[in-house]
Amino acid sequence: MSVTIYYQKDCDMGLLKGKKICVLGYGSQGRAHANNLHDSGLDVTVALREGSATFQRVQDDGLKAAPVAQAVAQADLVCFLLPDQVQADVYNAVVAPNLKKGAAILFAHGFNIHYGQIVPPADVDVLMVAPKGPGKLVRDLYVAGQGVPCLIAIHQDASGKAKDLGLAYAAGIGGARAGVIETSFKEETETDLFGEQAVLCGGLTALMKAGFETLVDAGYAPEMAYFECINEMKLIVDLIYQGGMTNMRRFISDTAKFGDVTRGPRVIDDYVRQNMEEILTEIQNGEFAREWILENKANRPVFNALLRADEAHEMEEVGARLRSMMNWL
Ligand code: NAD
Ligand code: MG
Ligand code: MG
Ligand code: MG
Ligand code: MG
Repeated sequence: MSVTIYYQKDCDMGLLKGKKICVLGYGSQGRAHANNLHDSGLDVTVALREGSATFQRVQDDGLKAAPVAQAVAQADLVCFLLPDQVQADVYNAVVAPNLKKGAAILFAHGFNIHYGQIVPPADVDVLMVAPKGPGKLVRDLYVAGQGVPCLIAIHQDASGKAKDLGLAYAAGIGGARAGVIETSFKEETETDLFGEQAVLCGGLTALMKAGFETLVDAGYAPEMAYFECINEMKLIVDLIYQGGMTNMRRFISDTAKFGDVTRGPRVIDDYVRQNMEEILTEIQNGEFAREWILENKANRPVFNALLRADEAHEMEEVGARLRSMMNWL
């Protein structure tokens, strides 16, 4: 399957000129989007909770800030750049009752729409523009005249103009300079969750921990185990980031390469692949979403216990000690 990619020439930022954009949240993505849109000459107001200490920070950055209800009531486009787990409450309590007729809402991740936690009325445009990078990179590249590639998806096109609006937004934050890939809320949500669970976050930390424990349990020094199974990951990943697996393999020894191609598939064997398929099924059938939503409603007992256990793991103590030898960090 090939994807459709849009570039600057496909985007008319003029569609957002004279419109009021409300950015909910001033964290990783919110701060980057708001500043980029502002520097693109668009009218942005950052929406904050009453009494939030962030009002000062927004003003110091040269942008406007207003309490959520007030900013939403004036906005033609409301952007949800809040943590995913608070979006539904904020939508129900403040956005839905104040949303102007004809206003559109925009997300940077599809979770709440895809799993039905937010159900906007049928006459509202619902779109997604999701940069494929952290907020800091979205801002830094914009300032450097470049951009982070983005995804665009349309959930509801009430106006008939939702995609053009999304492309205008992608241009406004600089993403169209790199390219805007068309997807759906379903595909973005499910692949994002799968990637972070099976590979990037869950898979990676579990792989490192298992390698570390295997060496330590066999009697090797924890310091050695930490360097070999955890610390050196960055060198390998940087090489893959720059030029793929083939490039990385140009920089490692033949011995390492032989171990890589013959032993790697034994670590990630059919059993691991089956686990990955199960994890994907739980994402597709909503089981993961339900578990995470209920976990939040219960004040996160399992989540907090698991995080605490990993924070107390020997590898974290060893890592902290070794990093104190690396004064360049
Ligand atoms: P974040 O946690 O960095 O920032 C969220 C902001 O919302 C914070 O400033 C917080 O103070 C504020 N906030 C929290 N509760 C609030 C409330 N009730 N009312 C008003 N403000 C409130 O979040 P983020 O990482 O920027 O994520 C925002 C969205 O972007 C999410 O949908 C996320 O999935 C998506 N996204 C994030 C990244 C990333 O790299 N961080 C990348 C792509 C997409
Ligand atoms: Mg992701
Ligand atoms: Mg994610
Ligand atoms: Mg080595
Ligand atoms: Mg070696």
